[in-house]
Amino acid sequence: MIVVLKHGVSAEKVSQLIAWLEALGLRIHISNGEFQTVLGLVGDTSSVDIDLVESLEMVDSVKRVTEPFKMCNRKFHPESMVVEVGDVKIGAGNFVMIAGPCSVESEEQIVTVAKAVKAAGASLMRGGAFKPRTSPYDFAGLKAEGLELLKIARQETGLPIVTELMNINDLPLFEDVDVIQIGARNMQNFDLLRELGHVNKPVLLKRGLANTLKELLMSAEYIMASGNERVMLCERGIRTFSDYTRNTLDLSAVPMLHELTHLPIIVDPSHATGIARLVPPMALAATAGGADGLIIEVHNDPIHALCDGAQSLRPEEFAELAKKVFAVREVVQ
Ligand code: PEP
Ligand code: MN
Repeated sequence: MIVVLKHGVSAEKVSQLIAWLEALGLRIHISNGEFQTVLGLVGDTSSVDIDLVESLEMVDSVKRVTEPFKMCNRKFHPESMVVEVGDVKIGAGNFVMIAGPCSVESEEQIVTVAKAVKAAGASLMRGGAFKPRTSPYDFAGLKAEGLELLKIARQETGLPIVTELMNINDLPLFEDVDVIQIGARNMQNFDLLRELGHVNKPVLLKRGLANTLKELLMSAEYIMASGNERVMLCERGIRTFSDYTRNTLDLSAVPMLHELTHLPIIVDPSHATGIARLVPPMALAATAGGADGLIIEVHNDPIHALCDGAQSLRPEEFAELAKKVFAVREVVQ
C-alpha cells in the first residue's frame, strides 16, 4: 500500500503517522520527492483501514500496490534512483559505460584494457575473478589474485571495479570492490541475495537466462528488503529460439522495467549476442531505448582470451562504439 502525502505537511505530522502505521506492525519506506512524499507500507496491510487513512487531513491519496515487489516498485519511489559509485552517478539521466574483459587474466591485460576503456569514456571497469563456467574444465578465473589485479588497474586508472561474486563465503574478499555483480546463474540464489542486503555497496543484478522481469524484480526485492537499496538491474539476454546468437536481447525489458521500478537499468549486449560484431548495433539500440548504462566486454587480444573472446571488442572497436553511444545519448536524453 502507498500513502501519498499532501505537499507541505510538517515533519512532525509525518513522524506521527509513521509511528501509528509502525505500531500496526508495518515497515515504512519513505520517499521524499521534490514535489511529494510517498510512504510505502511493507508487510501485512490487511489490517489498515484505507478509508480512515485517506480521510486524514495530511493525506492526498492511498493506493493498494498489487505487485508482489514493493521496495523496488516505482509506485513506492516515483523518482528514478541514482546509484553513486565514488564520483560516478548512474540512473535518472546519468548514463554509464562499464567495460573490460570477461575475466581478469594478468596484470598487463587488465591494466592495458582498463586504460584503453577509460580513454574511450568508460567510467567503471568490469573483469571477472570468480567465473561461473558451464564446463568444469574451463578457466574459472584467477579468484583472489584476480581481485588484486583489478585493484592495481583501479590504482592505475581511477576506474571503480565491477566484479562477480558467486559464493557468500567469498564475500570478505570483496570488501574493497566497488560494485558486486550477481551473475545470471545466481539471480535466484536467495541466500546470496539476502546476504547482499547487509553489504554497503551497490549490486549489479543480472537477469537469469530463463527468468521473467517479475522474477528479476523479486530478486532485487530480496536484496532491498534485507537492507541494501543500491541495486541496478541488468538485461543480458534470455533463452528463446535464437539459433545464431548466444541469447536474445530483450530490449523491451528496458522501457518496461523503467515503468515498473525506479532502479537503474543496464544492458549487456556482449552476453546477449555472443558475437563481437553484433555488440555495437545492440549497444546503440539499448542506448536509444533508454538504458541507464551498458556493460561491454573488451579484450586487448580477443583471439587468445581465456573466456568469451568471440564476443569481446578490441579497445579500438570499443572507442569507436563509445563515440556513437555518446552521440545517441545526446539525441535521446
Ligand atoms: C559476465 O558478466 O561475465 C557473466 C558471466 O555474465 P552472465 O552472468 O550474464 O552470464
Ligand atoms: Mn563473459
